[in-house]
Amino acid sequence: MVEIKKKFKAHGVTPSIQRMLIYQYIEKERNHPSVDMIYSALKSKAATLSRTTVYNNVSLFVEKGLLIPLLTKEAETRYDLAEPAHSHFVCLKCGQIYDIPSMRCQSGCVPDGFRVQNTQVYLQGLCSRCRNNE
Ligand SMILES: [Zn+2]
Ligand SMILES: [Zn+2]
Repeated sequence: MVEIKKKFKAHGVTPSIQRMLIYQYIEKERNHPSVDMIYSALKSKAATLSRTTVYNNVSLFVEKGLLIPLLTKEAETRYDLAEPAHSHFVCLKCGQIYDIPSMRCQSGCVPDGFRVQNTQVYLQGLCSRCRNNE
């Protein structure tokens, strides 16, 4: 919790118990959760927690640079820690999102005068579990 408080402070987020629970869940599980997944996991721990509270807090975390929203084909947004930077492998069969080492574009991958601020690379395919069950 002390580490989380420090991180919040560095990003200008005021700590609250619910905020810390939400961030701690995402950091610990590393499961790229949706708002619903976070809510279901935490509702027994925080009686006053609502879906709206979870949504508002993850939105704040995104705004403050602590989380990134992932681009998935599902309608529901999934969230991930902004740091450390890494890329993703999305399984087309089971939909699981796997962390893979960060893939960055080299200089020259965008036109002259453009500036890259954030790189999200997604590889798509079949994960080993799905391949073995083919
Ligand atoms: Zn799979
Ligand atoms: Zn990730």
